[in-house]
Amino acid sequence: MVTGDAAYIKKINRSLIIEKIVEQGMISRADLSKMIELTRATISAQVSDLLDEELIVETQQEHNSVGRRPIMLSLNRKAGYALGIDLDYQHIRFTLSDLLGHPIYSETIRLETPDYDVILHLLIEHIQAYQNKYSDSRYGIVGLVIGIHGIVNKDETIYFVPRHQWHNKNLKADLEAKIDINVYIENNANLCSFAEKVYKHHHSDNLLCVSMYSGVGLGIMNEGELLKGYHGYAGEMGHMIIVPDGKPCNCGNHGCWELYSSEASFFKELAEEHHKHDITYTDIRNWMIEQEPIICKQMEQFIKYLSIGLNNIINLYNPEILVLNSELLKLYPNAEEIIKSHLTSTISHYRELVISDLGKQACVMGACALAIKNFLDIPALRLNIEDDYLNLSKENDGTKAAL
Ligand SMILES: [Zn+2]
Repeated sequence: MVTGDAAYIKKINRSLIIEKIVEQGMISRADLSKMIELTRATISAQVSDLLDEELIVETQQEHNSVGRRPIMLSLNRKAGYALGIDLDYQHIRFTLSDLLGHPIYSETIRLETPDYDVILHLLIEHIQAYQNKYSDSRYGIVGLVIGIHGIVNKDETIYFVPRHQWHNKNLKADLEAKIDINVYIENNANLCSFAEKVYKHHHSDNLLCVSMYSGVGLGIMNEGELLKGYHGYAGEMGHMIIVPDGKPCNCGNHGCWELYSSEASFFKELAEEHHKHDITYTDIRNWMIEQEPIICKQMEQFIKYLSIGLNNIINLYNPEILVLNSELLKLYPNAEEIIKSHLTSTISHYRELVISDLGKQACVMGACALAIKNFLDIPALRLNIEDDYLNLSKENDGTKAAL
């Protein structure tokens, strides 16, 4: 069918044009034509549509070297909003961003119960409030993505959330029945690795991100795409056994990696040693400065077990970039170098090991980015964000380790 083909080609061209405009920030029609290798006429027709849809805007530059004032195109970041939600064990983090992924508002609410119906009701209430408050743009909220700290099926239904003890929940359908917004459900570690790719490591097609908060999750970006496995469960490395007959885990096994290398396990052990249950990151920072013996010994153990797990996943994936997402490691002087010194096997190789700048915002930032990517319907998304914006989105978070 000629018309079908033409419509398909038009759709592909449209997504290539939007992708390039977002990637470049600002670009002229002439440069778009050169970079995408489409004719000027095709570019002009598509750009005209995008302007009508208010998805892009024109700006006339002040001047350039040859005196002309080229008209530049950029994404209309105010045409709508993305809503990212991190549904963790005892709290829910919400971040609303513009269409270039810049956070506009962020809040964290405490959860008093793991009960599904109560949390569903709470989510609906908050999402509707956001919807009402941010309806002042052409597209309103263009999509919302929820990061789940558990196992998510490929069809976006939830198979299991260990800390909440949720089995087989269809949160997407339950929300979409009440809210007129596209809802997407994704595993939190996957969203963290997606955020690293979209905001920080644009050029890496082979990236692993280990998130180490209430558990340990691995997000795998392989050839530029999330690697999910047959059911969608790939990356549950927190339940890799690293200590035979070790501590009992609620997955049914003993000695799982996250019992030794998650921040939750670290805080739990520290609380037992110090007989204190409201330990904050600030306390830890101060103890590290004072070289307090318990904290020094515990960090050594933490890094030892962390490195055992990292060694195993490096052997499995041979990553280009290995990102460790942990606020605790950020506090530890020279953490990257110390971890690298434990990874000296002649077999296991990676190109770069870094501690995430995105920290606890990674999941919601990845969630916003995924909502934007789905709305724009583009194959790849590259966003740039200044550190100021990350600080803004942290403002409501405080420093208490809410695990
Ligand atoms: Zn386990």
